[in-house]
Amino acid sequence: MSDAPVSAPKDFIREMIAADVAAERSGGWVITRFPPEPNGYLHLGHAKSICLNFGLALENAPHARCHLRFDDTNPTKEETEYVESIKEDVQWLGFSWGDHLHFASDYFEKLYHFAIQLIEKGLAYVDDQTLEEVRANRGTLTAPGVCSPFRDRSPAENLELFARMRAGDFPEGAKILRAKIDMASPNMNLRDPVIYRILKAHHHRTADAWCIYPMYDYAHPLSDALEEITHSLCTLEFEHHRPLYEWLVDHVEGLPAKPYQREFARLNLTYTVLSKRKLLALVKEGFVSGWDDPRMPTISGIRRRGYTPAAVRAFCETVGLTKFPSVSELALLEHCVREDLNKNALRVYGVLRPLKVVLTNYPENQVEEVELVNNPEDPSAGTRKVPLSRELYIDAEDFMENPVADFFRLVPGGEVRLKYAFCITCEEVIRDASGGIVELRCTYDDATRRGAKPVGRPKVKGTIHWVSAAHALDVEVRLYDKLFTVAQPEEAAGENGNFTDYLNPQALEVVTAKLEPSVAAAAPGVHYQFERVGYFFTDPKESQPGKPIFNRTVPLKDSFPKAK
Ligand code: ATP
Ligand code: MG
Repeated sequence: MSDAPVSAPKDFIREMIAADVAAERSGGWVITRFPPEPNGYLHLGHAKSICLNFGLALENAPHARCHLRFDDTNPTKEETEYVESIKEDVQWLGFSWGDHLHFASDYFEKLYHFAIQLIEKGLAYVDDQTLEEVRANRGTLTAPGVCSPFRDRSPAENLELFARMRAGDFPEGAKILRAKIDMASPNMNLRDPVIYRILKAHHHRTADAWCIYPMYDYAHPLSDALEEITHSLCTLEFEHHRPLYEWLVDHVEGLPAKPYQREFARLNLTYTVLSKRKLLALVKEGFVSGWDDPRMPTISGIRRRGYTPAAVRAFCETVGLTKFPSVSELALLEHCVREDLNKNALRVYGVLRPLKVVLTNYPENQVEEVELVNNPEDPSAGTRKVPLSRELYIDAEDFMENPVADFFRLVPGGEVRLKYAFCITCEEVIRDASGGIVELRCTYDDATRRGAKPVGRPKVKGTIHWVSAAHALDVEVRLYDKLFTVAQPEEAAGENGNFTDYLNPQALEVVTAKLEPSVAAAAPGVHYQFERVGYFFTDPKESQPGKPIFNRTVPLKDSFPKAK
């Protein structure tokens, strides 16, 4: 994304690629791919892979590109809805696949013929064992596997059986096709891996054309080769699959390219889970309102919450690439979100938990207009006028009847500055029948406008925001917080526990806030900073004209330690 001058590669993947380019491997081209399986919505972990693969294509332009390839080899779990959401998410992150939108299913015919080639060479066979039997006979890390009784079928017999598998002559589970590699290999993935299975399932693209489907481990390397991918980058779990990747690329003839696979550590993030299967469970079991619930770590969820593509890219860049598993801090991601929004978000005044303040010495029907800056970081954003009158709301948190030490905001008998207005002193606390505080009676000092200090009284240390009661809008604000109560819910749950036990019941609180009147015109999908409170985003889905709903993107306070 940047025009920055070429500098030293910043991680082991980029080092490796720079060396390949220098050595003119693949003619100096860098061709990567992002290969999602369309069986769910993308999450922040995928964002890391997207930023890497598409980022490399941009960094190595013009002799580079990145493909978006759907690894759609499992028709039972895949849907067009997922394909569409994934495309939207990649584009939202700021990347483009150009003309290179591909589907593994486009290669089904070729993949089938590659399998025939392997059978002819005596490198694949039809096995009548069930998947369970295959699994049971695979052996262990210390004991070799047991050869299938069907392992030595002749190529002619295998060809005939495989053709009949394709023709639909056998029921699901009756037969599989396996690569014939080495049942004693120390690498379990080389113990005659299954490469085709029978599935009488409707495929979202090929419909009912096929009833045999290639396994991911077979389809993936060959799809890479067919697309002339130069560097196939994936997460560490696939390290043990690399020998199979290489075996296939080496043994199948007629491939246009010889890609290679390298692995990097997946993104893990505190206070959330990054697994499509687990996120699907949250959706299916109704713990969240959908894949795009703003509590979700899905790209569609964080987008709706108000995270920005630039913030996500900055986060991925900061996290970097390593070969070792680690857990990144949600606080770092939130820090990146704040940094970006601070530059761009419009400022408004809003009170989440309103407490009425009456300025007893302010004229009854007077309304004045205070000019406020829309974005102190961006003078071109201009100013706006906000009404101020005798009755106001302040945030209940900005008043303490029995203040703790170092509380510098409003207290009984104390004085505080109303931002951009004047100082007020709390003269009286009004309660309802049950003793709850309902109103503060205050006086204001006209001589303290424009930052003038009170004369003859102690220094005013606190500044708080406010809205004019008569002009304020009642607005639904959704206060989002961490999805889980513990940093590592999967670890906390252990083998037998359930990660959903650690869901944070307070991850969503809905309040009716009092906002300055200008927000009535807020369009859906716009970022705001409620001054002193946090960043908010008008819900792109449920906001109505003149009736915005605000999602809290992130509170203002940054808990991430500043770089030294
Ligand atoms: P999940 O573990 O959530 O089910 P997946 O790996 O099965 O994800 P795919 O659709 O197969 O999902 O992933 C597409 C690409 O995204 C793969 O190359 C995968 O390595 C990468 N990816 C998935 N999760 C992460 C993660 N947490 N960090 C980095 N890359 C990831
Ligand atoms: Mg996967």
